Amino acid sequence: MRPIIPDYLTEALGDVEPDSSGEPAAYIPELAAADPERLAAAFATVDGRVYGAGDVDVPFTIQSISKPFAYALALADRGFDPVLAKVGVEPSGEAFNEISLEIGTGRPLNPMINAGAITVHSLVGAENSSPAERVERVIHGLSAFAGRRLAVDEEVYASEMEHAHRNLAIAHMLRSHDVLIEDARAVVDGYTLQCSVLVTTRDLAMMAATLANRGVNPLSGEQVVPEPVVRQVLSVMFSCGMYDAAGDWATQVGIPAKSGVAGGLIGALPGRIGIATFSPRLDRHGNSVRGVSLFERFSSDMGLHAMEVPSAGRASVRSNHVVGSGPDALRVLELQGGIDFAGAERVVREILETAPPETRVAIDLTRVHVIDDVARRMVLEVVRRLTLDGHEVHLVDPETILPDPDPGDGGRVTVVRDVDQATLPSA
Ligand code: GLN
Repeated sequence: MRPIIPDYLTEALGDVEPDSSGEPAAYIPELAAADPERLAAAFATVDGRVYGAGDVDVPFTIQSISKPFAYALALADRGFDPVLAKVGVEPSGEAFNEISLEIGTGRPLNPMINAGAITVHSLVGAENSSPAERVERVIHGLSAFAGRRLAVDEEVYASEMEHAHRNLAIAHMLRSHDVLIEDARAVVDGYTLQCSVLVTTRDLAMMAATLANRGVNPLSGEQVVPEPVVRQVLSVMFSCGMYDAAGDWATQVGIPAKSGVAGGLIGALPGRIGIATFSPRLDRHGNSVRGVSLFERFSSDMGLHAMEVPSAGRASVRSNHVVGSGPDALRVLELQGGIDFAGAERVVREILETAPPETRVAIDLTRVHVIDDVARRMVLEVVRRLTLDGHEVHLVDPETILPDPDPGDGGRVTVVRDVDQATLPSA
């Protein structure tokens, strides 16, 4: 059988190809010279499979797509408080290179606009790192997200530095507010090197998949940054990743995303997929025209909007019945699927409504494939309260979905492999 997803991607590229609106970034001469016809899209699954179509192996500079990853590294290296003290998390509603800082504090509004990203660059690595050490930490970190060693495009870097007046102005303003405490020019230099890291569409999809996979690179298995950092980064991407188009993006596409002026665009949908596209012509916000169209299409074709209600999981209580009769009768509550808070609430309600007259109760987890932490605590609390009410409770758990069950104060539970084992009256 021919694989389905590459065919789908090829068809999607074909549909957006005729759109030649927009212009490649003009303010960096080396980018203005890029081939505007390049076009690629790639999906990376959270278990490391990459599907691509078009120019997926053509390298280009990462530009602003480096911002969420550098933010992740700063949060991991310095902790949340020092980073949040210097860079906010509010959407700016302004262009990426706007010279705007929060009134009063001088803090950049968020890490996705240049003012925030320049500050974030200064916060990567250990305190008192040299400029060269900071750059090495950034390149090393971006490489860990991608799963291969990345390099800098020296020409793009030099070209941008020659015209970096605006970023220098921003950095000097940050320095005047003591948001930056290092040499402003050295920080812009490092930030520009960070933006000049070469990636392919395939790399970007893998980097996005690492965010979607709780910070673990799906191929190398490396935990690049801790989970709470990933949650912070994806939240900021969702609200600020597309600059002054962030609201349109959040409603129409609904995938945490980040664009770059070389034409790259990434999206990361937690637990599901990393997506990347590449097409150099940009709209007035600095986002890739064909990239935005592709994401709109992917989101609606595949139901990837983050606010879409997940297809109804099967009811968590599969059956509620009695085995045997008389004093040995066993009430069996058979659960199924993945159990989270909402599923556990159904279990609690079922027990309350049944108010089992039988002394012996079994909660059967044979068909449960995962139970999250809150659901585990709720099920154990059900066990504890049943014990206190005089019940003898069994947990049928052949695959140890719920290891070391401890129902706490006054609770008691017997773990068995199958319901038959629970029907044998305990000695
Ligand atoms: N290096 C670019 C700049 O700072 C990155 C901007 C972007 O990709 N939006 O201007």
